[in-house]
Amino acid sequence: MKLDADVIVVGAGPSGAMIASEIALTGVSVIMLERRTGPVESRAGTLLPRVLEIFDARGIAGRFIAKMSEISAYPFRPTHIYAGLKFIQWRNIGSRYGFTLGLPQNHTEELLLSWALENGVDYRDGHTFIGLEQHDDHVEAEVARSSGETIGLRARYLVGADGGRSAVRQALGLGFEGHSGTFTGIVADTEIAAPWPAGHFGADNSFGWLRGFGFGEGITRFNMVHRDSMKCAKDEPVSVDEVRRNLMEITGEDFGVRSMRWSSRYDDTMRSVDRLRTGRVFLVGESARIHYPASGVGMNFCLQDAFNLGWKLAMVARGEAADGLLDSYQSERMPVIGRLLDSVRAQCAVQFNFSDEGQALKRTLENEHLAGVALNRRLGLELNGIEKPYFIEEDQHRLAGRPAPDLDLVLADGTATRVGELLRGQRFVLLDLTGRMAHDVIGDWAGRVAFVKAIASRRTEAAADVQAMLVRPDAYVAWASDQPAGSDDVNTALGRWLTN
Ligand SMILES: Cc1cc2nc3c(=O)[nH]c(=O)nc-3n(C[C@H](O)[C@H](O)[C@H](O)COP(=O)(O)OP(=O)(O)OC[C@H]3O[C@@H](n4cnc5c(N)ncnc54)[C@H](O)[C@@H]3O)c2cc1C
Repeated sequence: MKLDADVIVVGAGPSGAMIASEIALTGVSVIMLERRTGPVESRAGTLLPRVLEIFDARGIAGRFIAKMSEISAYPFRPTHIYAGLKFIQWRNIGSRYGFTLGLPQNHTEELLLSWALENGVDYRDGHTFIGLEQHDDHVEAEVARSSGETIGLRARYLVGADGGRSAVRQALGLGFEGHSGTFTGIVADTEIAAPWPAGHFGADNSFGWLRGFGFGEGITRFNMVHRDSMKCAKDEPVSVDEVRRNLMEITGEDFGVRSMRWSSRYDDTMRSVDRLRTGRVFLVGESARIHYPASGVGMNFCLQDAFNLGWKLAMVARGEAADGLLDSYQSERMPVIGRLLDSVRAQCAVQFNFSDEGQALKRTLENEHLAGVALNRRLGLELNGIEKPYFIEEDQHRLAGRPAPDLDLVLADGTATRVGELLRGQRFVLLDLTGRMAHDVIGDWAGRVAFVKAIASRRTEAAADVQAMLVRPDAYVAWASDQPAGSDDVNTALGRWLTN
């Protein structure tokens, strides 16, 4: 059976470009199909700490920060909103990347696409996925070219990253349970009379909720949910007058809005599949769920789906791990998606209650509770989707299944490095922080696992006593020990993920 590629990825949005890059990074062949031939409008505008950490694990976080610096004199936002309320302080979650990067989605997509091309992804735009057939050892995709011709493409696995209306999901016959929209918000990219002062502007009162910020050259973006406008249908056009009136009522000024480059209504439709894997086909990102863009985190969760599955598909395609590893995508990401949807529901209940009672609740939360470090940190972790570990086992180390602490390290030859840098080649890293592990401890796993002896020159509180740690290619802790570990421990830990 001649295959066209190891993996076909449908959709070149954020999820598609991310997973295609991850799979191709180590030489596995990937075709990425995209029906568009032109650019997209920027729906999203935020990259959060955990996504910057995973970009860092591939050495590309700096590209996104540099692009943001071209747009803004100071690219970093040390705080974020939750349910529209001020403020989550990123310093509380202990990330090296303790800030939000307000980068418009079109730039994020461009950077991810160029990363995919650098990694050798075979990118085909003007190619629309129509249907699929699954066989014992491959998947066949039916694809319409923009010329009108229909072709068949074969691969071992197929990933649907084709957004909320996913044709892949429909081809699988999966349900998409949930509810339709109950209200709409407005996103308006405006030109205003005076230059935007700097930073973010937020307001909420009995008329509604609003947030404004600079969004690329000459553009000020307003997101708003107004108590009257929220009753409009999603396809109702947005006028400059409506935007000005809403601004005036919610903030007391109209910011001299002259015109709009783009505007749209979005709603709180919420739907989800109940499984992410069907045979040889996987769903990532919005093809698997859609929801109100509460706190602007949606794309960040989509990217983390892609990052979770990418290395697993690459290792299975290379024969270094068994097909069963791919099931952990479902068991690890489905609960995260479930918690995300619960979080969005909870945030909407608070944020869009414009009654006197709702106002009182918001001010109490903001002034009395959110400032507390413990709650602030808990919600910060929730916004990144990292408040719970990926897996829970008996006698599990407190770090296992959680994002790997990015310890500062000094290697035996005196080189300074850190965990994020060691992950760059998309590999497992076994870290010996005692210097006492035998040199042949990884035995047959050599080549797939980097064995690194180092001293930690800066530790996090949770990693204070760690002596050995196995980090997965996606920067999650696979296993850790506070005692000196031997080859039996290492073999058991590695055998869970890789075939020997
Ligand atoms: C108003 C608004 C504001 C938002 N703000 C934020 C924010 O600040 N932060 C944040 O993190 N998220 C935000 N989001 C969410 C974010 O935009 C999405 O989560 C993100 O775009 C999803 O990425 P995706 O790759 O899964 O899907 P998409 O971006 O929808 O990409 C899917 C791709 O697949 C292609 N495709 C579709 N069908 C086919 C087919 N049959 N064949 C081939 N290709 C196909 C499409 O052309 C597209 O390129 C916002 C959303 C909205 C609506």
